[in-house]
Amino acid sequence: MDKSPFNLYNQNSNTDSRIVAALERISQAFRIMLWKESKEFSLTPIQIQTLIFLLNHSEEKRTITYLAREFNITKATVSDTIKTLSQKELITKEYQQEDTRSYTISLTRKGHEIATKTSLFTKELFTPLKKLGTYEKENFLLNLIEIIHHLRKAGIINLQRMCFTCLHYRPNHSKGKHFCNLLNIKLGTTDLRIDCPEHEEKAG
Ligand code: SF4
Repeated sequence: MDKSPFNLYNQNSNTDSRIVAALERISQAFRIMLWKESKEFSLTPIQIQTLIFLLNHSEEKRTITYLAREFNITKATVSDTIKTLSQKELITKEYQQEDTRSYTISLTRKGHEIATKTSLFTKELFTPLKKLGTYEKENFLLNLIEIIHHLRKAGIINLQRMCFTCLHYRPNHSKGKHFCNLLNIKLGTTDLRIDCPEHEEKAG
């Protein structure tokens, strides 16, 4: 595609361009919904996203290095975010005994409360999704996963903890089209995960 999807002639004569334009609108909606939460709690969007990530991920992922990869930003930017969240008493740092320069980050009680409230910032999206049937949802989810997977392969987004990039994922297994070797279960399309706690990055 060498024509801009934002050129209205291209957009209105090409379905793919309209899909890209629609995804851009949705990404704009995410930014707006996040800003709304940010204003309410006097935090920036990245500070809110960091709190939500800390709320939902295990200790080994709650480090400066991991957060930098997660959000595709520099370690210096993450350090600034963590410093501000610490000054606001929303997080604490636990230094590692073997390396006193490294630490894991945890939410304080106040941080936990704000993260829990703000993590509902996408709630408006559930209204149209509830109207879709199972088959439509399966298709929708699979297509989104394929897009994310492509963006990962193209090097546009970094870390992904989804089945398609997992060491334990087996496509076209004798027991099912999608299979998890670790959990030893057949995965239906709607079981495919976007952010799996057991994910292990596949080499290559
Ligand atoms: S461990 Fe998680 S990400 Fe990996 S294949 Fe199994 S369900 Fe998917």
